[in-house]
Amino acid sequence: MTTSSTVKLPNGVEYIQPTGLFINNEFVQSTKGETIKVINPATEEEIVQVYAADATDVDLAVKAARKVFTTVWKNYSVDDISRLLYKLADLVERDAELLSAIEAADSGKPRAQNALGDVQSTVHLFRYFAGWADKRSGTVCENDPEKFAYVVHEPHGVCGQIIPWNYPLGMASWKIGPAIAAGNVIVLKLAENTPLSVLYVAKLIVEAGFPPGVINIINGYGSVAGSALCTHPDVDKIAFTGSTVTGSLVMKMCAETLKNLTLECGGKSPLLVFEDCDFQEAVKWAHNGIMSNMGQNCSATSRIYVQESIYDKFVEALKEQTIKESKVGDVFDDTVTHGPQVSAVQQQRVLSYIEKGKEEGARVVLGGHAVSGKGFYVEPTIFADVEDNMTIVREEIFGPVVCVGKFKTEEEAIARANDTTYGLAAGVFSGSIARSLRVARAFRAGTVWVNSANLESPKVPFGGFGMSGIGTELGEYGLDIYSVKKAITVNIGIKL
Ligand code: NAD
Ligand code: MN
Repeated sequence: MTTSSTVKLPNGVEYIQPTGLFINNEFVQSTKGETIKVINPATEEEIVQVYAADATDVDLAVKAARKVFTTVWKNYSVDDISRLLYKLADLVERDAELLSAIEAADSGKPRAQNALGDVQSTVHLFRYFAGWADKRSGTVCENDPEKFAYVVHEPHGVCGQIIPWNYPLGMASWKIGPAIAAGNVIVLKLAENTPLSVLYVAKLIVEAGFPPGVINIINGYGSVAGSALCTHPDVDKIAFTGSTVTGSLVMKMCAETLKNLTLECGGKSPLLVFEDCDFQEAVKWAHNGIMSNMGQNCSATSRIYVQESIYDKFVEALKEQTIKESKVGDVFDDTVTHGPQVSAVQQQRVLSYIEKGKEEGARVVLGGHAVSGKGFYVEPTIFADVEDNMTIVREEIFGPVVCVGKFKTEEEAIARANDTTYGLAAGVFSGSIARSLRVARAFRAGTVWVNSANLESPKVPFGGFGMSGIGTELGEYGLDIYSVKKAITVNIGIKL
């Protein structure tokens, strides 16, 4: 097998898809020749096969990264690095149409209504961190007559990065942007379900002029390539996004060699809707907050609590809004908003949660089934009258399934919102400034939205409490996790 294939996408577009492991700016076969079939979840058909890395391949990628880090990359100025990221952003923007189509075919995101937005967010993110790259400096922490000390922000070195399949381009950019801006080198492991768009971006990395070895990108299974990265003695830092179960495993593996670690894990984020809110806006945001990307979003607002005086009306309006906004179908139809789940496994997982919800007595207001025919589609599903101990209220479903419950008082609403092992995000809808601020302050969540849900930006830090992870990505704080603070003390006049 060669390391690229001509692929014809469902919209008729033909392009050359890299299928190798991207090491040292070249696409290479895996040492043992193992491959993974890449499936289009809307058609259930194979798109292409892509090479899968094992521990030997991971070692080659780490060696390539280390070599350039200790040689060529050290001599790059912050201006050079900034320019490379700006260039990469421009190239992703140039190829946005194609990238959105690749992403749609591989991940099941509706191309125009969803995947294209991900490409634009990726461009935005690269530009944002390109802007930080040349502002990397440090501080003066001691300026005494006898001694002088300053701090420089030094890159960790080789960063192993592991991303999930829900936002392949987006998650790759969250990892690449700040790590490169801070002067690191990278071995990025893609999610085995969705490797195509980022392997295409690898070509753009070469075109942008990154030196070989600075960004290495490999596809491979988590238990093989992912764990090899986490246990590799020459990897300095791991940044992981994915499920809490895997995050915990990653942390254990990193413990052995005491790697610096950032984890972005799951969530079960609440949205509180008070009777004094702008009702129509609350309904629209509540719909978006859970149903966008077919619910495959770590910060999806999947638990909605509504004040009792407007509860019945809200449930009805959310149902109407969901029917109106959810056009299920061909992801290459520009009006379609709701595609399949990413894989058969995920479809089955979501359906089994739906069955559990029914068994446990939640009321099905809308949906509740797979969509018949080809593809891993699940109907947008609304459960109402949920109770706090139900499985669908406690566990992350990661699908188009929302739980709606009723509350009486602000105090009760806050207590129930915070009654979770997670703490990623939370939202509040209220027309009262005082109440919004009170509730925002009371939430135990890394991200709080007042009168919105899932409104994100590369400027705004993102991280969580509890089982939602460790560390903060995005914003200036997101740059911080990619450097070690080195303090240098200069003796001016102290004599022994
Ligand atoms: P996962 O956490 O297993 O996968 C995420 C990434 O981790 C992938 O790249 C995977 O290959 C890698 N990985 C898996 N096992 C690994 C290991 N032992 N060592 C190192 N890396 C490993 O997620 P999944 O199994 O694809 O999805 C299961 C559930 O996880 C979903 O239903 C959802 O609830 C949750 N999830 C959450 C997020 C998020 O962003 N919070 C993303 C994806 C999945
Ligand atoms: Mn796929």
